[in-house]
Amino acid sequence: MENNQKKRSLTDTMTRFISLVAKRLPDDVYGKLEQLRLKEDSPLARTVYDAMFRNQEMAQELDRPSCQDTGVIQFFVRAGSEFPLLGSLRDVFDEAVREATRVSPLRHNAVETFEEKNTGDNTGVRVPWIDWDIIPGQKSAEIDVYMAGGGCTLPGAAKVLMPAAGYEGVVQFVFDVITSYGVNACPPLLVGVGVSTAVETAAVLSKKAILRPIGTRHPHPKAAEMEILLEKGLNEVGIGPQGLTGASSVMGVHIESSARHPSTIAVAVSVGCWSHRRGTIRIDGDMTYEILSHKGAAL
Ligand code: SF4
Repeated sequence: MENNQKKRSLTDTMTRFISLVAKRLPDDVYGKLEQLRLKEDSPLARTVYDAMFRNQEMAQELDRPSCQDTGVIQFFVRAGSEFPLLGSLRDVFDEAVREATRVSPLRHNAVETFEEKNTGDNTGVRVPWIDWDIIPGQKSAEIDVYMAGGGCTLPGAAKVLMPAAGYEGVVQFVFDVITSYGVNACPPLLVGVGVSTAVETAAVLSKKAILRPIGTRHPHPKAAEMEILLEKGLNEVGIGPQGLTGASSVMGVHIESSARHPSTIAVAVSVGCWSHRRGTIRIDGDMTYEILSHKGAAL
């Protein structure tokens, strides 16, 4: 296949994949919601979960996005340095977002800053956002598509703490954020925490944390323990589905971290809502693909 044909083929695949992500939750999120529904005794909480499952059925039946806020689209790319379309991915993503906006359809959510003008196709300056990891020598690319909603992950928060604040300061920050505005997103929430050295590094890591499959643990045992304790503590707050109280506040808490300067502990929080629309697809060098996040899905 010539490179132009490959580009067309990948644009079509990504267009259809973005539409799928808008209309169907990934397997781990759906499975977690089923588990959390079983933990609820309150009829109100169960009814809210049942409405979420009905929402998913209707999105399939009507072939429509499952939430009106289809977000700003963000791509997190782990691309091999030998991936044939490495230099074309920006064009491919822009075009796929425009086409998916038209055919899905997706709400128009890209407003040019300082012009206050909606572009009408979900693209604009640095939108869709692309985060890059280049893997030396590899021919394939793994791509996360994330629909970052205006009520959930986009209003994240970050702060650089003095070292004396310690990890207790990190915990305090997470609780302050979730209990003050966490319910602006529709719970149960997937809480991503970045622990790092500066606001921007912590912020990116907090976003990567909510891209991890639910229930996976940080490789460091102390961080993994902190994930479990934060989950337990936030569940005890009892926010419940849609904030109407219940047994669980969160689908999970994930931490991502980096080494840091001895004078700083930076912490950031990004929150995914129950309708956590993300998907992962692996594209091989010949543009064949495998969907990793939605078992059995066809494009
Ligand atoms: S928080 Fe999530 S489910 Fe609620 S309106 Fe926003 S995107 Fe939709």
